[in-house]
Amino acid sequence: MSLQIYNSLSKQLEVFHPADLQKVKMYVCGPTVYDRPHIGNARSTVVYDVLYRLLMNLYGSDKVLYVRNITDVDDKIIDAALKNHIKIQELTEKIHIQFSEDMSYLNCLKPNMEPKATEHISDMVSMIEKLISEGVAYVAENHVYFDVSKYDQYTKLSGRSLDELESGYRIEVNSAKHNPADFVLWKPAKDEDDASAKFESPWGVGRPGWHVECSAMSTKYLGHDFDIHGGGVDLIFPHHTNEIAQSCCAYPGSQYAKYWVHNGFLTVEGEKMSKSLGNFITVHDLENEDISGEAIRYFLLSSHYRKPLNWTKKGLHDAEQSISYFTRILDKAEINQERIDSEIISALKEDLNTPKAFARLHEIAKEYHKTDKEEQKRNLAEKLLGSGRLLGLFFEDKKVKKDIPQEIKDLIAKRQQAKKDKDWNLADQIRDQLQKQGIILEDKPGGETSWKYAK
Ligand SMILES: [Zn+2]
Repeated sequence: MSLQIYNSLSKQLEVFHPADLQKVKMYVCGPTVYDRPHIGNARSTVVYDVLYRLLMNLYGSDKVLYVRNITDVDDKIIDAALKNHIKIQELTEKIHIQFSEDMSYLNCLKPNMEPKATEHISDMVSMIEKLISEGVAYVAENHVYFDVSKYDQYTKLSGRSLDELESGYRIEVNSAKHNPADFVLWKPAKDEDDASAKFESPWGVGRPGWHVECSAMSTKYLGHDFDIHGGGVDLIFPHHTNEIAQSCCAYPGSQYAKYWVHNGFLTVEGEKMSKSLGNFITVHDLENEDISGEAIRYFLLSSHYRKPLNWTKKGLHDAEQSISYFTRILDKAEINQERIDSEIISALKEDLNTPKAFARLHEIAKEYHKTDKEEQKRNLAEKLLGSGRLLGLFFEDKKVKKDIPQEIKDLIAKRQQAKKDKDWNLADQIRDQLQKQGIILEDKPGGETSWKYAK
């Protein structure tokens, strides 16, 4: 069976056909780095992490190119930096690190690329220039706007009429816009803005609109046409609607992303999560409460990704119970290798049906307890481990090493080279640096180096 995925653009389940089997391309809207990630951000990241792992399993781990941006210039960031009396860059760098730490707590793999908006301003300026020359964007009062009336497919993704979309804008009085739904591609800086939010452009000093960031960065790294574009369902309008309009108009004849994948909302005990309601939960809060990353991840995947997910204490408790039930098996079983159960692969190929995959994990565990044949027990435990790891679980099991982060791999390679070059100082320095991060290196005879986590 082939992978089937629900495409928000065609509004149906489709068989996934990557344009190039040697390079499956996926872009996901990443975080706006102004605040520590909450469990809603985590849901989206974990969902696309499972999709990334599945694609690597189906097409080969070096055949998938996964790009997720970092939005590091935005009104919310500017406001948060002002409120906290720190420089924008200081804030965005801090939150970016926290985001990486929290997502690694949930065992999310790093994407292949994580481009930052502020490092791609010239790409955005070029794209805006192209939109102006195509006659779909206009300059007005130091702003550049996209004229939505020039793109006849504008409402395709949202499935709502332009009247309906524009009704949300009626309160806004802005005479510079040709149509209420026209959106900003470039806006002028305010005098009081921090220097790191001010950029030169043909339209004066300012900064890009949010939507053009993703169009410019995805095109730069994945080309005009790519396979999958993902994000939360709240991004369908206006963000993804506007991305499609920009990219298809800047590059006439291109389709932009072929499959649009959206994960559902997250509520907390039946209510919308918000700071004012006092039910705002960050991954870091949960970590401080000693909730394991595995249990959080399990819970986030326990509902189908397109359905709303209601975060409850009971649900989290059940997730912890399931994880410890599985871990008890893995701890005592004899395991020689990882195996992936074919029914779990099939479940994931059905539009990423993680609840079905979890039900199968429970079945495997049940079969394990039922049989007393050693061979069968081992086989089932190996399936439990391999299939769980495909879903990004069981990384906290002591028997199973957590995926080694790329930074560590790079450092080990750098040290290997230093040893070859007889640069013992550098080699020692890297060893010390890794030790501080809890990684112990062991040099083996013959020049190989292995590593383990410090106890
Ligand atoms: Zn985006």
